[in-house]
Amino acid sequence: MNEYQNIWNQMLVLLKDRMDDESFDNSFGKCLNVCKFENNYIYVMVPNLLIKYKIDRFYTELIKELTPLVSSYTVGFKFVDEKSVQQEEENKAKGVSKIAEVDSVKSLMRPISSIYNFENFVAGESNRYAYVVAMNVAKDGPKVCNPLYIFGDVGLGKTHLMSAIGNYVLDNNINAKVVYTSSQKFAEEYFLATSTRGSTEKIVNFYERYKDIDFFLVDDVQLLENKNSTQEEFFKLFEELVAHNKQIILTSDRPPQSLKIMARLKTRFAWGIIVEIKKPDKELQLSILKRKLSFLIEDVNDVDNSVLEIIADNFPNSIRELEGALRNFVNYCVCMNVPFTKENLYAALEKVFPADKQDEDSLTNIIKLAKKEIADYYRVSIQDLDSDSRKKDVVYARQMLMYILRNDYVVPLQVIGDNLGSRDHTTIGYGVDKVASILKTDELIAQDYKKISQKIKDLRD
Ligand code: ADP
Ligand code: MG
Repeated sequence: MNEYQNIWNQMLVLLKDRMDDESFDNSFGKCLNVCKFENNYIYVMVPNLLIKYKIDRFYTELIKELTPLVSSYTVGFKFVDEKSVQQEEENKAKGVSKIAEVDSVKSLMRPISSIYNFENFVAGESNRYAYVVAMNVAKDGPKVCNPLYIFGDVGLGKTHLMSAIGNYVLDNNINAKVVYTSSQKFAEEYFLATSTRGSTEKIVNFYERYKDIDFFLVDDVQLLENKNSTQEEFFKLFEELVAHNKQIILTSDRPPQSLKIMARLKTRFAWGIIVEIKKPDKELQLSILKRKLSFLIEDVNDVDNSVLEIIADNFPNSIRELEGALRNFVNYCVCMNVPFTKENLYAALEKVFPADKQDEDSLTNIIKLAKKEIADYYRVSIQDLDSDSRKKDVVYARQMLMYILRNDYVVPLQVIGDNLGSRDHTTIGYGVDKVASILKTDELIAQDYKKISQKIKDLRD
C-alpha cells in the first residue's frame, strides 16, 4: 500500500470515531481510495457529486482538524466518475495501460475542465448538428473546417461542446497543445502584457503562450467588440494559425455577421463551418435532467418524471439554469432528508425560481440599492460602476456587485448587464464566476462579501 493511501486509511479511522455511523457511511464510507498526490495534496476519490458537496459543506473543518494528526499533507477531494473508472478497469483488464490515476493527473493539469466531454453531452434536435460537427473536428481537425464557429444563447452548451473537443484531442494525444481562452481573458492578457512600460518579459510570455498551438479554443468572441487593438492582435494570431493548418474553434452568442468587429476578422470567422445551438425542446431537457441526476443520486427512479417536468417547464431558456435547479433540489432533499416530491421541489426552489418571475420593480429596486451600497463600501461612485473604467478598485467593486445581484437575488445576467452600463451578459457571467472563485480562497474578500450582502439584506427588509 502506498504512503498516501496509508494516511487516508488512518484518517478514515479518525473520522469514523468522530461521526455517527450513518453519516460516516453516507459520506466517507464511499471514499476509500486515494486517486493522486500532487503539490502536498492527497486527493481522495469521491464517487458522486452529492457526496462531494456534503464533504465540502459539512466536513471541511473536521478534515482540517484531523489531518495534522496523521500527516503534514493536505487532503483534497476529487469527483471521479465511476463509469469512467469502470471503463478504465476494463481497459486495464484488456491490457490497455491507461489507468484512472494517470487520467486524473492529466485532468488536473488540463487547460480545460475535464468534466465537459462528449460522453456527458446529451444530443437532441436543437444541438445535434453542432455535436456531430464538433465530434468530426475533434477527430479530424482542420480537414473538416477551420474555424469551427459555434453560436447560441447563454447556458446552452457552447463552452461544454468546445471543451469536449479539447478533451477528446488530449485524450488521444497528451502532447497536443490545446489552448483555451475566452476573448475577454485574451484581451486582459494582451492589455496587461502591453500596458506596463518596460515589461518585455510580459510580452514575451504572452507570445509564448500563444505559440505553436494545435487547437485554439476561444470562448465568447463577441467580447472582442469595442477592443480594437485586441482585434488586431487576434487577427494576426488567427492568420498565423490557419496558415500552419492549426485548428481554431470559436464560440459566440451571435452569428459572425452580427458581430461589431473589424470586417476582415468577421470574414475569417465565417470561413469555416458555422453551427448554432438552439434552445432545447422538452424531450432534450428531460434527457439532460435524467443524465445529470444519474451523477447525483444512485437511483434516478427516486425522482418522478412529473417532478422533472416541472423543473423543465420553469427553466426553458438555459441548460445551466436547468442543471442548477436540479442540483439545488437534490441537495435540499438530501440534506433535509426528505423525499424528492413536488412539494419539496417548491420548497427547495422558492429562492431560485427564475428572477424574471419577480416583478420588474423589485428587480430595479434591488439593483439600485446594491449599487449604492457597493459604491459606498468601496468608495467609488455609481457612475464609476456603470463606466468603462478599468481602475482596479472600480473593477473590483463592479464585479462584487455582479456577484451579489446574481448570487443573492438570482437577477438574470442580461438584466444585470442592461443596468450596468449596457454590458454584455457574458461579461457579467465572467465577473460572477471570477468573484465566486476568489471567495473560495480569499478570506478577506469573503468577509467583505458577507458584510455587504448582509447590509443589503437588512436594508431591504
Ligand atoms: P454556454 O457556454 O453556452 O453558456 P455551457 O457550455 O457553459 O453553456 O453549459 C452550461 C451548463 O449546461 C454546463 O454545465 C453544461 O455541462 C450543461 N449543458 C449544456 N448543454 C448540455 C448538453 N447537451 N448535455 C449535457 N449538459 C449540457
Ligand atoms: Mg460559455
